[in-house]
Amino acid sequence: MNNKVILVVLDGLNYQVAHDCMGYLNGLKESGQASLYKVQTELPSMSRPLYECLLTGQKPIDSGIINNSINRLSSSTSTFSLAREAGLCTAAAAYHWFSELYNRTPYDPVRDRFTSDVSMNIQHGCFYHQDQYPDEHLFLDAEYLRRKYDPDFLLVHPMNIDDAGHKFGLSSSQYRNAARRSDTYLSSLLSDWVYQGYQIMVTSDHGMNDDRSHGGTTAEEREVPLFVIGERFSHQPCEAKQTDICGLSCELLGLNDHEKSFNPDLLGFASK
Ligand SMILES: [Zn+2]
Repeated sequence: MNNKVILVVLDGLNYQVAHDCMGYLNGLKESGQASLYKVQTELPSMSRPLYECLLTGQKPIDSGIINNSINRLSSSTSTFSLAREAGLCTAAAAYHWFSELYNRTPYDPVRDRFTSDVSMNIQHGCFYHQDQYPDEHLFLDAEYLRRKYDPDFLLVHPMNIDDAGHKFGLSSSQYRNAARRSDTYLSSLLSDWVYQGYQIMVTSDHGMNDDRSHGGTTAEEREVPLFVIGERFSHQPCEAKQTDICGLSCELLGLNDHEKSFNPDLLGFASK
């Protein structure tokens, strides 16, 4: 077993599409190695507000990051900051908005695209700033960070599913195929992470609709998957909230006094 945590945020992935199209992740579930929970996202169902929710446990209404244009550092403790303060190593292969929320803002690609600075909340980063940046490359960026820096907490955040949704909509073959491709890219790395005993969560910030957008309250926009893989999870039916992900990450990392909420039923007895 391994206390290191990998959080995969597949941007813009609707629950039903994850359930129907992602054969590898669902295969792990069928084999008893993963559990799948349906999570209702907080509101508004938009990216930057929900990145902040996933990493701080705060609803957008409480964090003040209430739309994508609010470009400032997070004012809350995050999984990154709490892990770094505890002497753990943090890393992210992610969209540049994560650099803006937790490292420095505005993002300067020349300075920030490749980050390696232990004084930063995200100590080791490969950041990108185009929504078309290939998921396959992003997963390789993440694996590079994992092998080079051996982070205790690694965020992996590809964008192509969301990008396909904005171009073609929820009910399109392009959107579903983007999810299938992401599942395939992920499978070639995740099998190794599973073998090495990582605690892994695969989720999304928000879903997608047939207006080629998101932000509202419909099930299509709000229902996202949470796959959990690893021995520390209970793998029992229970409620999982988007605001739990930060607390779960902190608990799995063994951080004391993190004061982030989570549902303890998601974890096994050893973690309670
Ligand atoms: Zn989007």
